[in-house]
Amino acid sequence: MPRNWQRGVMRVMRIPNHPVTVTAVHDFTPWYRRVTFSAPDLVKDLDVFPTLWLRLWVPHPAKGDGYVSQRGYTLVDVRPDAGTFALDFVLHDVSGPAGDWARQAHPGEELEVALTPAHIGLPEGTASVLLAGDVTALPAINTWLEAIPPEVEAAVWVEDDHEGRDGLPRTDRAGTAWTWVEREGPRGAALAEAVAATAPAPGRYAWAAGEKSLVQAVRPVLRDRLGLDRAHQFTQFYWIEGRSTG
Ligand SMILES: Cc1cc2nc3c(=O)[nH]c(=O)nc-3n(C[C@H](O)[C@H](O)[C@H](O)COP(=O)(O)OP(=O)(O)OC[C@H]3O[C@@H](n4cnc5c(N)ncnc54)[C@H](O)[C@@H]3O)c2cc1C
Repeated sequence: MPRNWQRGVMRVMRIPNHPVTVTAVHDFTPWYRRVTFSAPDLVKDLDVFPTLWLRLWVPHPAKGDGYVSQRGYTLVDVRPDAGTFALDFVLHDVSGPAGDWARQAHPGEELEVALTPAHIGLPEGTASVLLAGDVTALPAINTWLEAIPPEVEAAVWVEDDHEGRDGLPRTDRAGTAWTWVEREGPRGAALAEAVAATAPAPGRYAWAAGEKSLVQAVRPVLRDRLGLDRAHQFTQFYWIEGRSTG
């Protein structure tokens, strides 16, 4: 029986866990890996919307035998007909249970996931979308680009200094401007500067996610420099440098 007190809380909240089985592992780059899972019951009636994410329960051997921890990952390539979905893992150098699990993932392995969907969508009258973050936000950015209507402009800004970025998966969407920003100084500083320098765009909506200090650098730019109120921007911390999720 997997151990973790949070599983008890989620049971009380009636958030179910779903079994999933690894069916394929694909490396886009040595540090960006897609793991495909079979989960027919989960995906058959799934309401898929941009940035939809799940909690993946991964073994956490450092916390004891049978202990599992939950980590957030974004659903990509959901295929109800095939009964599959995938998660894209940034394989980071510092050890963590999810990254460690993904490094050794192989077909046939079984895990559990839980969904707590918080619906997100574009406000009425959106004419242009700005998507920003680090590479952990790339899966979510790709889901945005699949959903943004063709008449809406989209621009992507990603701060990253990995090598081999050309191999990464990107949703092919006409007219989307992609900009990769090299990290300079504190995390998020170069990204915030680049976003601040964008030309004004009427009807703009902005979304940003990634490491905490990166998001903290971008958030005031969206609010103060681009003048976007709460209805026209959304930001989320995905991970914290130097700190395990727990
Ligand atoms: C809603 C949501 C969606 C997310 N979607 C994705 C996704 O699709 N793909 C994805 O890769 N991540 C995604 N993340 C981020 C992912 O959950 C974290 O990176 C998580 O910390 C990884 O867990 P871990 O067990 O490997 O490391 P942890 O045990 O949490 O951390 C161990 C150490 O690794 C460091 N670390 C964690 N992540 C990174 C990283 N990416 N780069 C460098 N160092 C890191 C920590 O700072 C810490 O020092 C998402 C997070 C949220 C909340």
